[in-house]
Amino acid sequence: MKRVFFTDFDGTITKIDTTDAMTETFAQNGWQEIIYQWEQGKLNTRQSAQLIFPLLKVNPDEAKRFLLTIPIDETFQDFVNYVNSRQEKLYILSDGFDFNIKTILEKNGLNHLEFYTNHLLISKNEQFDIETPHASTCDRCGTCKKTLVQKLKADAEEVIYIGDGISDVCGCQAADIVFAKNYLLQYRKKQGLPVQPYTSFADVLNKLQNM
Ligand SMILES: [Mg+2]
Ligand SMILES: [Zn+2]
Repeated sequence: MKRVFFTDFDGTITKIDTTDAMTETFAQNGWQEIIYQWEQGKLNTRQSAQLIFPLLKVNPDEAKRFLLTIPIDETFQDFVNYVNSRQEKLYILSDGFDFNIKTILEKNGLNHLEFYTNHLLISKNEQFDIETPHASTCDRCGTCKKTLVQKLKADAEEVIYIGDGISDVCGCQAADIVFAKNYLLQYRKKQGLPVQPYTSFADVLNKLQNM
């Protein structure tokens, strides 16, 4: 059976959410309420980013240095090798930012991986803004993963999705098998939806090999 893999980036490939970590480290007070409103679905990704950016006191170089300290799941490379060895496709889908993803993938020698996410615009005076080239009819996500899964799965017969958070809820709706942890796991359980719990890509690999 031809399979295709989709994985979230923040908190799934990386051990912590890079946007949350940047906000907690560099934003002036007031961000907590904005994040809370986003979690409640009262602000969408674009609105929440545009409210948080003016509070962020960091320039792009500092941001990059900070991102380079964020570790990834040590077993992710094994997972990438497994997918490659079977000549299957793997896509990274993120409602975070290309700047963060590119920085971290490059550091880990993984910049050949294909990703779809929001664009972090950096103006000449180093102000940030968000661009959402993968927005869809969903009014919550900046990058709606459901539309991307449907588009990118092409002729694959089985869609496997790996994620952890609120922004994965949409993507999972178009998947056949969902690996989840943290918020996403609780959400799927509460809704009575099928879900495979995992903590690292080693677990995902293990389960796939026993399926
Ligand atoms: Mg995540
Ligand atoms: Zn969505």
